[in-house]
Amino acid sequence: METAATPETPVPTTLAVNRVKRFLHVLLEPRSYLNAFYLLTAFPLGLTYFFVLTAGMISGAFLSIVAVGLLILLATIVAAWGFALFERELAIGLLGVNVPPLSLPDAELVSPWRMLVRHLRQPATWRSLVYLFLKLPFGIFASLLSWGLLGAAFIGIIYPLVRINMDGPTPQAIGNVIFPGVFAVAGLALTLHILNAVARAWGRFAAEMLGVGEEQRQVWEARRKAEAADRSRRELIMNVSHELRTPIASIQAHVDSLLLPEAERPDAEESERRLRVTAVETRRLADLIEDLLMLARADSHELKVSNRAIELAPIVQQVGLALAPLARAERMVTVTVENLPAGVWAVGDSDRLAQVLTNLVRNAINYTPEGGVVSVRLAEGSTDHVQIAVSDTGPGISASDLEHIFERFYRADSSRARNTGGFGLGLSIARELLEAMGGSLSATSQPGLGSTFWISLRRAQH
Ligand code: ADP
Repeated sequence: METAATPETPVPTTLAVNRVKRFLHVLLEPRSYLNAFYLLTAFPLGLTYFFVLTAGMISGAFLSIVAVGLLILLATIVAAWGFALFERELAIGLLGVNVPPLSLPDAELVSPWRMLVRHLRQPATWRSLVYLFLKLPFGIFASLLSWGLLGAAFIGIIYPLVRINMDGPTPQAIGNVIFPGVFAVAGLALTLHILNAVARAWGRFAAEMLGVGEEQRQVWEARRKAEAADRSRRELIMNVSHELRTPIASIQAHVDSLLLPEAERPDAEESERRLRVTAVETRRLADLIEDLLMLARADSHELKVSNRAIELAPIVQQVGLALAPLARAERMVTVTVENLPAGVWAVGDSDRLAQVLTNLVRNAINYTPEGGVVSVRLAEGSTDHVQIAVSDTGPGISASDLEHIFERFYRADSSRARNTGGFGLGLSIARELLEAMGGSLSATSQPGLGSTFWISLRRAQH
């Protein structure tokens, strides 16, 4: 068996070069210099906090005029709060850490006194105060370390340059300073690595000390979600009432006209036309109720989707075959089903996927003018996802509408769709169903040329 290293196998020298490159790369990273700047400024800031806060607390607590003492204490609390906010910004901006907010917004407006009491009862207030006091010892340590190391490294770099300047750029002089120069650059890189490690550790500490705790954040998150759910329920009631108004008014008017005294009643042909309109409107209302029930189930996580490995080609084929004759007969639109290799499997629910596909193809047919083409095909996807694309040669969707079409009750062209089309729920239901399958739905469009809806599902091995 041959064991010699092939050109593709990394040889030890390449590994060593890569390691050196990685080691020196720290010199080019802006974050290293931001970290170093943070550490260099830690001491003056720590000293300021220590001085202002201790002076404020001592004079506030021991002043013989109680009112003035209390005022000074209050000012100290406000100053500590300001310092903590400033430190949080510094940690986010210079150290690049993710620090939760220092306090959570109040649900309602409260008086300044209640705000103060609440502020004093928050653990984050006291944690941040401890942090501000600890900044001084940390600042002393960080300053000594960074000034010392950076100073040594810079002197090491400047020394050869000064020597060459003094001795003239002779080959011997250059030879004499090459070693100390390289050594100094490596020293600077090492310094930055050390400072980065210190900054990272302090950054983690700052994130713990300068933000509200996990428990409080969860309570706030739950409150925010409850408010959002309440708002969306109210919106839903408004939207549904609005949507019901037109078809019900139409049904009422038509039925009333059929109940008029015989002499005033329309003739048989007109009566039948009105009955048909009533039947269509009633069906639309029944569809709306089905859609609303489906959304309600999705909201309460009761949408039943049984995910298993399903083969895509037969489902796509079946939907295409079912809708093609109708599209041709009713709207002179051709439905084509392309590129359906067998053996492409995805995770999903075949009935629900057929429902989503039917919805997308129906939309495509409805929005495509006579003579247009709707095509359904299996697209490339990626190693872990498969895609089904539904394209049409319709009017397309403007960029501003594209952002909203998956929202409930959104219709791009309301004047056209309001009385004839659906209620703007189809796409949001389709998206909910696909997400319940672990997939997604998106759309791209070129106004004037057509739109494509992309179903993406997780690939399944079979
Ligand atoms: P609707 O039942 O009103 O069609 P959908 O949720 O299915 O509701 O679609 C929302 C809106 O997206 C539609 O009102 C329409 O404006 C737009 N839309 C959907 N599919 C297409 C398409 N293939 N071409 C152009 N516009 C479309």
